[in-house]
Amino acid sequence: MVVQKFGGTSVADPTAIRRLIEIVRTARARDGRGPAVVVSAMSRVTDTLLGIAAAAGSDQLNEALPRVEELRERHLAAARDLVDEPEQVPLITQIADHFDQLTGIVRALAVLREVSPRTLDVVASMGELLSSRIVAAALTAAGVPAEWVDARCAIITNDDHTRAAPLTSETNAALGRTVVPILDSGRVPVLGGFIGATLDGHTSTLGRGGSDYSGALVGAGIGASEIQIWTDVDGMLSADPRIVKAPRLVSQLSFAEAAELAYFGAKVLHPSTILPAVERNIPVRILNSWKPEGAGTLITASRSNGGYEREEYYIQPASESDGPGRATRDAHTTTRIVRLTGLASKRDVTVIDITSSRMLMAYGFLRRVFEVFERFRTAVDMVTTSEVSVSITVDDRRHLDAIVEAISEFAEVSVEREMALLCAVGDVLRDVPELSAKVIGVLEEVPLRMISQAASRRNITVVLRQSDLPHAMERLHEEFFR
Ligand code: ADP
Ligand code: ASP
Ligand code: MG
Repeated sequence: MVVQKFGGTSVADPTAIRRLIEIVRTARARDGRGPAVVVSAMSRVTDTLLGIAAAAGSDQLNEALPRVEELRERHLAAARDLVDEPEQVPLITQIADHFDQLTGIVRALAVLREVSPRTLDVVASMGELLSSRIVAAALTAAGVPAEWVDARCAIITNDDHTRAAPLTSETNAALGRTVVPILDSGRVPVLGGFIGATLDGHTSTLGRGGSDYSGALVGAGIGASEIQIWTDVDGMLSADPRIVKAPRLVSQLSFAEAAELAYFGAKVLHPSTILPAVERNIPVRILNSWKPEGAGTLITASRSNGGYEREEYYIQPASESDGPGRATRDAHTTTRIVRLTGLASKRDVTVIDITSSRMLMAYGFLRRVFEVFERFRTAVDMVTTSEVSVSITVDDRRHLDAIVEAISEFAEVSVEREMALLCAVGDVLRDVPELSAKVIGVLEEVPLRMISQAASRRNITVVLRQSDLPHAMERLHEEFFR
């Protein structure tokens, strides 16, 4: 039995939800039970909700309330389209209840003029609560017996609101109480992704894009045979299609490679998605809900060689120069087929440079630096050091000023914004050292600010100016994935 997670564009409107219904029906017919279904909010709804909260918090009710009404109309229209009377009546009532609550919160925020992370989570959770209600009712109306599950009773998290971490054993126990009995009774459980609740019952969210993570948590919790991520592209592509013109489909990759690509910016997968899958060794498949017949991308524990079936990239020894792409084998040379798996990038990266002569030959300096990041709960992405300086990149700028101030007490600090991370990933980098040199060589015209290859040796990552990113991506893609 599989878990199927559908992203925002895959539940965007009644047409998309009808496609979802057929995908669920097919899985059910094939497996004889399930699937468990996890859905995102309808596309753009989370952004709108966060905008509404921000407007209300700055007392702009005349901006916030009309947007609440637009959302209400959009959800009611979908409900009326997908579900007929008499089942329509309870669905409309549930939607109305969610909107009454939302309107109440929005008015309260305007009075209080502040939005706490905890309140923001309550507002943001509405998108998934609404979409999951509608999808559950629509499935049942289409003859697929389904039941709505309140994700706040199934995914249990810590209280780090807006980016909460799930508590594994509590979540597994909760899934056993909520999702498993529905599957056992032959119905399809439907729950909203992205959202959960703390141990004391406060609504929490797993961070932007977190529905993938919910899908994986459900998959691991119920011991699914596969976690399927249904989205709007054919699978994991060799580069971000918004940057590179014609990226290729990666048909297979390893958990480790997928984790690196997701961590370094491949938005198609939330970076935490792979963790629960690895723990239970459950394959993850990325699929296109517009083209359900496609094979998509399969992510498993096995080591990958790039996942490309054709058009291999050859590195030839210098002695063997009989033209590009015409590698030969003879007694004196070895020809290796070298396939990188993919490229990923992150924009809006900030580089923090920390310099101190006290760092020279000293121990304990880096501990002091990282203690500051820990204190402000800020994750660092990349670190490089020299004799008297250390450069660190961060993605999360919420506490940047405080971090800089704290480090300034014992070192000189400077900050560079509008930088980007570009990461080339492939298990193959582990055993072909010249490939890393080749990656850097291809970027020879681009000023690189930091270069790193971490212990896993399956990625090579550079930091460059954001304005140089598109060109650098195209160059690398052209060279390795053409
Ligand atoms: P969903 O709403 O289904 O979760 P997302 O928008 O979160 O979808 O993720 C899918 C999008 O990720 C694609 O439309 C694509 O623009 C973007 N993307 C970025 N990098 C990659 C990549 N390497 N492979 C595939 N898609 C990528
Ligand atoms: N709806 C949430 C977001 O937009 C979660 C998700 O779609 O994965 O971030
Ligand atoms: Mg997503």
